[in-house]
Amino acid sequence: MTVPQQARCVFHPNRVAVAKCEKCGNLICLECKMTRRVRRVDEGDSVYTFCPPCYQTVQKRSRRMGIIALVVFVVVVIFMIYMFITLTSNMPTMPEMPEIP
Ligand SMILES: [Zn+2]
Ligand SMILES: [Zn+2]
Repeated sequence: MTVPQQARCVFHPNRVAVAKCEKCGNLICLECKMTRRVRRVDEGDSVYTFCPPCYQTVQKRSRRMGIIALVVFVVVVIFMIYMFITLTSNMPTMPEMPEIP
């Protein structure tokens, strides 16, 4: 990460930038610097630097992804339960009740 000399934070013009946002490329000061640890299968854990607005966006998106994953999981579980009930109820294990004339 290389920051030009005397670079200023885009949010605080009086503060020296220490980092660059990975998403939008904005130069940010130490106070604005937001880091987020991302777990990757291939590379292991890596830390990304974001400016506050981008951090919010990333956070929101990952939360939405979590909700989507949860919904998918619930739907799959319900479907499996439904399939289980349908299969077991269709099995001819229970003898049919004889009809009373
Ligand atoms: Zn940014
Ligand atoms: Zn700042």
